[in-house]
Amino acid sequence: MIVIDGSEGEGGGQVLRSSLALSAVTGQPFTLTKVRARRAKPGLQRQHLTALKAAAEVAGATIEGAEVGSDTVRFAPTKLRAGDYVFRIGTAGSATLVLQTVVPALLCADGPSTVVVEGGTHNPMAPPFEFFDRVFLPWVNAMGASVTATLERSGFYPAGGGRIRVSVTPFASRNAIEVTSRGAPTDRRVVARVAGLAGAIAEREVAAADAVLGWGRACLRVETLPRDQGPGNVVMVEAGFAHTRELFTAVGEKGTRAEDVAEGVAREALAWLATEAPVGEHLADQLLLPMALAAGGRFVTVEPSLHTQTNAQVIGRFLPVAIDAKPADGARWELTVRV
Ligand code: ATP
Repeated sequence: MIVIDGSEGEGGGQVLRSSLALSAVTGQPFTLTKVRARRAKPGLQRQHLTALKAAAEVAGATIEGAEVGSDTVRFAPTKLRAGDYVFRIGTAGSATLVLQTVVPALLCADGPSTVVVEGGTHNPMAPPFEFFDRVFLPWVNAMGASVTATLERSGFYPAGGGRIRVSVTPFASRNAIEVTSRGAPTDRRVVARVAGLAGAIAEREVAAADAVLGWGRACLRVETLPRDQGPGNVVMVEAGFAHTRELFTAVGEKGTRAEDVAEGVAREALAWLATEAPVGEHLADQLLLPMALAAGGRFVTVEPSLHTQTNAQVIGRFLPVAIDAKPADGARWELTVRV
């Protein structure tokens, strides 16, 4: 039995999600203690509980500690099962973070699966649908799988009610990836989306983002969703290159000026653009798990976050994989995953 102290490193939900995926794939049971000990509201929250139950269904696992607030979890898998799954978070908890748990596991199942997750699709501190679909999945597909995702309905905090449908065809081959440069720029845009809120909010946001980025009107998009999908607001700054793509997100909140939301995310995008690293901070932590399950590889990124370091440690508890980070030139770092 692998025992993991959930208070180490990042001490958040990532430790649980990565452990679940790795346990499901390797068949090794684990106990996680001090679940999310470093978070303001420690223990399992709805999103984590859904991920736990989802992983249990996919891996035919017996589980202990499956309650909101639980600080210890035990997970004992039997066999990975391809299938048609529906997971409902029941709140606006992040649907993409539940997908972060089950999709890597299903990449290693013995047949194709479909997964529908209902919950939040554009949450603070989580990948928005577009990041999952346009930034993360292309790399998973480059590793030898075939995964497609559809946003069927948007869900914002606190109402939730979003729905993402994913179809997963497991690894047909297992390829290493090499991501050392961006290549030439191909496209860029700022999207401000509102649901059940005044369109003027989104207009102000694209203008404020453009004042920072200077990309010009042709790159700015305002999108208005049906009122029943709101209230909600998100600003996304996306930059595509021949070899890579990144997307930066800010979720609008009551009490925060639209201009501040947009300027913050535009500055974050500019800071990454200035590094010339092909992989941003969030993609870096998310790539490690599928790379460890496929054939490893190498990528150039920004200084590894605590998330990335913690994820590397958790992977090392389940798989004989060596993950090294070393400074490269400028603000860039090189991460190598050897399987
Ligand atoms: P907790 O619930 O414990 O606060 P969590 O379950 O929300 O944490 P974290 O451990 O904080 O999860 O991990 C969040 C995940 O979401 C990480 O993989 C991180 O890279 C990703 N993420 C956060 N913000 C973004 C963003 N703006 N774009 C893409 N990915 C993001």
